[in-house]
Amino acid sequence: MKRFFRVFVRLLGCAQALLLCGCGGTREFTGADTAMGTVVRLTVFAEEGGTQKEEILALIKELEEDTLSWRLETAEVCRVNRTAGSGERAELSDALAGILEQCAELTKDSEGAFDPALGPLTQLWDIDGWAGGRRTGAFRAPEERDIAEALSRSGFARIHFKPPFGEEPASVCPEEGAALDLGAVGKGLALDRIREYLETDKTVTGAVVSVGGSVLTYGKKPDGAPWKVGVADPENPSENLGVLTLDGGAFVSTSGDYERFVEEGGVRYHHILDPGTGFPADSGLRSVTVLADSGLLSDGLSTACFVLGREKGMELVERYGAEALFVEQDGAILMTPGMKALFRKTQ
Ligand code: AMP
Ligand code: MG
Repeated sequence: MKRFFRVFVRLLGCAQALLLCGCGGTREFTGADTAMGTVVRLTVFAEEGGTQKEEILALIKELEEDTLSWRLETAEVCRVNRTAGSGERAELSDALAGILEQCAELTKDSEGAFDPALGPLTQLWDIDGWAGGRRTGAFRAPEERDIAEALSRSGFARIHFKPPFGEEPASVCPEEGAALDLGAVGKGLALDRIREYLETDKTVTGAVVSVGGSVLTYGKKPDGAPWKVGVADPENPSENLGVLTLDGGAFVSTSGDYERFVEEGGVRYHHILDPGTGFPADSGLRSVTVLADSGLLSDGLSTACFVLGREKGMELVERYGAEALFVEQDGAILMTPGMKALFRKTQ
């Protein structure tokens, strides 16, 4: 079986997309880059003269630079964070307002397990500085009192988000020291933007794009076969636990403790924080893969479910009509019925 998979091109991320070559008259192009601190890979089937891979990769960078980054001054999130403590309301663009409206709902529905305003905590842990997996030597886990202090400035309620109302645009008024961090939905949002873009280009017949652990399937392959998206094995992430068989229009995101982590004194710290404790979440899971109708939802739900654990995570995905696959710390795999129908375990 393993040999069979080697004839596929592998799209690496935490989930890996696998697709058949053989284009039947349609041009196929592939590309890879880094953006949002992670690896981006794409394969697109299109007629000559249509979308170029550079255009798709540029969309991701644009979203990061104009809207999502909390580091880059060009980005709206960074500018909004700068207003913290000023007491003034900052008006939001329609794009960021729409994102925060959906994040607010997910924060409420997950009882705060997903929280887009954990900036003080994620910066204290220096999660963005851990890019590239294992970092040895320099890392020191924060002191408990510093975690408690960062927690006291964290949480979506401290952003005081007001959705648009009548003529009034959406706005925020972050408290002193509060900060948005949209890292848990950024990769999914990039895929949402890419899908919108692909829909405007009729020369594109099919595509599969991965941004870190989030994957979008779009349209059809030239031979009409379904898309194959791998689910990484948390114990050995370069291998697949199994493969999902998907139609175009699917968004799949994986949140796992192996994606980004550091070690200190034999203790491993990963990048998904429990907003209740300020420490890496310890809900008995190694990874959660979620299939949903939008990138924002698949990405946000996978993070939320990782924090919530299997039982509450199952309830949350059911509420959203999404599908999920949970890998527990002992390696057991649990799935929603819809996911079971799509997943085939690697032999
Ligand atoms: P993901 O890999 O999609 O699960 O997202 C993890 C990223 O989201 C981290 O690198 C942090 O920037 C941020 N994050 C960590 N924990 C949470 C959480 N509980 N809720 C929202 N964002 C989080
Ligand atoms: Mg996520």
